[in-house]
Amino acid sequence: MDDAPKYSFVLPAYNEASNIAPMTERLMSVGESLDGAFEIVWVNDGSTDGADAAIDGAANAHSCVRALHFTRNFGHMAALCAGLEAARATHAVIMLDADGQHPPELIPEMVRHWRDGADIVQTIRIESGALGSGKRLTSRWFYKVFNALADTDIPEGAADFRLLDREVVDALNNLPERVRFMRGLVQWVGFKQAQLPYAQEDRLSGETKYDLWRMMAFALSGITSFSVRPLRLAFVLTLLVVALVAVYSLYVLAAIVTGKYLAPGWTSTMFIILILGAAQLLVIGIASEYLARMYVEQKQRPIYLVRKRNNARE
Ligand code: UDP
Ligand code: MG
Repeated sequence: MDDAPKYSFVLPAYNEASNIAPMTERLMSVGESLDGAFEIVWVNDGSTDGADAAIDGAANAHSCVRALHFTRNFGHMAALCAGLEAARATHAVIMLDADGQHPPELIPEMVRHWRDGADIVQTIRIESGALGSGKRLTSRWFYKVFNALADTDIPEGAADFRLLDREVVDALNNLPERVRFMRGLVQWVGFKQAQLPYAQEDRLSGETKYDLWRMMAFALSGITSFSVRPLRLAFVLTLLVVALVAVYSLYVLAAIVTGKYLAPGWTSTMFIILILGAAQLLVIGIASEYLARMYVEQKQRPIYLVRKRNNARE
């Protein structure tokens, strides 16, 4: 087996046939400007547009290009995960989109930050015209809701364009959970992070694979894998109903004192409904609390992570 490269570039691709060759060329020239050997890992996420052939073509043309073909479309997160597991880099892995929106020319700068001691170099998309206003709005809201609900905070605009030190890649590969919301996990593992703003470019060709529904599913999967707070809604509602009972009791009391007419049966019916509602919500809340704890347990995230090395980076 040939020597392991210093750097791996990991690219998930779903129906990006026309982008494979230009991205490979750009990455080749960026890679050659670095201080050591590199590899390009293409993860073909079940493309049906001929991207397989384009990826195999690139792998045949360049010995540093490796191809991984999924049996079907498993999704962006699965592809990133496979790429991280396949990457052989001894120093750092850089993941980026296949469509040119993440400019490979930024990689040398990312490597500089890594050499200065950052374990994670996270790029932050700066708002630009290239991004549709719909996408900008949904993205901003997503980060706000996520950060309000989850204990792990994601910097607003954090893209799936980042450099990860070998140690971080190992930590991510060792996480046993199945739902792999990369943006959250990268923050969760900790380590030393540097942020690098970048202007997102237009897609080279093809269309986005994330329509509104897929974005919403993505957001939901991210929030539910990092927060159990939505499960506590039942407790909040219990308190609301209890407050309602208190207010209604005051009203009934005032009516009795002032001799105001209360329809027979009405008061008792209202109390029964409110008290039963509160009791049900309370029991649901208690059950949710156990569910939340089981959910956290079954993810089997490590309780803590320890830095293994802190060596010079050349
Ligand atoms: N992608 C993937 N599998 C999917 C959907 C997307 O591997 O099921 C890849 C896609 O080819 C691209 C990256 O994930 O390299 C980001 O997707 P896209 O550019 O469509 O998303 P956007 O940039 O519009 O948010
Ligand atoms: Mg894109």
